[in-house]
Amino acid sequence: MSRRDYYAILGVERSVGPEDLKKAFRALAMQYHPDRNPDDPDAERRFREVMEAWEVLGDPEQRNRYDRLGPFFRPDGRPPTPEDVSVVVGEALAGIFRRRPAPERGEDLRYQLGIRLEEAALGTERTIEVRRVGPCRRCQGSGAEPGEGSRVCDQCAGEGRTGGRLLKTECPRCDGRGHIIVKRCTSCEGKGRVETSDTLKVHIPAGVATGQKLKLRAKGNLPRRGGGKPGDLYVLIEVMEHELFHRRGSDLLCEVPITFTEAALGADVLVPTLDGTTAIRVPPGTPSGQTFRLGGRGLPSPGANGRGDLHYRVVVEVPEQLGEPERRLLGELASRLSATAHPRREAFEALLKERRG
Ligand SMILES: [Zn+2]
Ligand SMILES: [Zn+2]
Repeated sequence: MSRRDYYAILGVERSVGPEDLKKAFRALAMQYHPDRNPDDPDAERRFREVMEAWEVLGDPEQRNRYDRLGPFFRPDGRPPTPEDVSVVVGEALAGIFRRRPAPERGEDLRYQLGIRLEEAALGTERTIEVRRVGPCRRCQGSGAEPGEGSRVCDQCAGEGRTGGRLLKTECPRCDGRGHIIVKRCTSCEGKGRVETSDTLKVHIPAGVATGQKLKLRAKGNLPRRGGGKPGDLYVLIEVMEHELFHRRGSDLLCEVPITFTEAALGADVLVPTLDGTTAIRVPPGTPSGQTFRLGGRGLPSPGANGRGDLHYRVVVEVPEQLGEPERRLLGELASRLSATAHPRREAFEALLKERRG
């Protein structure tokens, strides 16, 4: 059962005569008729209210009873129940304290963004294209055609609230907006929002990792009803695999293949860094698997001032395909190397000998 003021719903004074009452009803019934507003649930609700108000006020006997009982009037003619009373009192209090329903909030949106490791390391700015429901630019979200599309609500004179000096409530005619749409915006058909494609700049801070979310406040969808806040846009970061670096927290690992002559004789080996290349000195007799550390050349540590390190792990690459001359040379080399050239192998063999007894 509606608790609204039937006179307010029809937009007429309490003293209105039957002819003017009928006129007001007809105009509103035409305006909100569901056939004329197929996509507007708001209009359908309004239409039902108008019908309900007319059913009571249009019948002189019912109107008389309504005038006497006011908010305690029940269309079925029964006396008000305690629930009726508490609902009416509650509504009156809600009106005083302007306790309106919490404004609707639009949906949050997600956007997956893949970035290169170098971008994650240094931070960057990216431009993204997002499809979202945003405010209609033509009517600035009001839903009314610019110019003569809206007029000040005659029920509340634009105040948005009606009633006596003490019990003011949200104006039922304009839902507290203070204005009424006379002609719908041609761009959004009165919805006040449209699906658009927005170009947004995303600032990506240095040191971001996969799975991290960047929040772009109020860049989500607009809510269905006017007055609410848009949702947020979450940009989900995915740092793509890198062909040279492997990430471990703020440290970076890089595997460097070296030849066994480089490992044996020592060499300066060219290696990659995040912003170019540098050389590391591999000393003579470097074992495979040895790591070299370049301090402070990794990724920025989140929350801290420092940066991680860059680790190079050298791996000796053993030639797989050898020509006959090379085989001969290697054989000769093997026979020339003294036993002390491979101390670990020597120790290993000694242990095996012990086991055989
Ligand atoms: Zn519009
Ligand atoms: Zn109003």
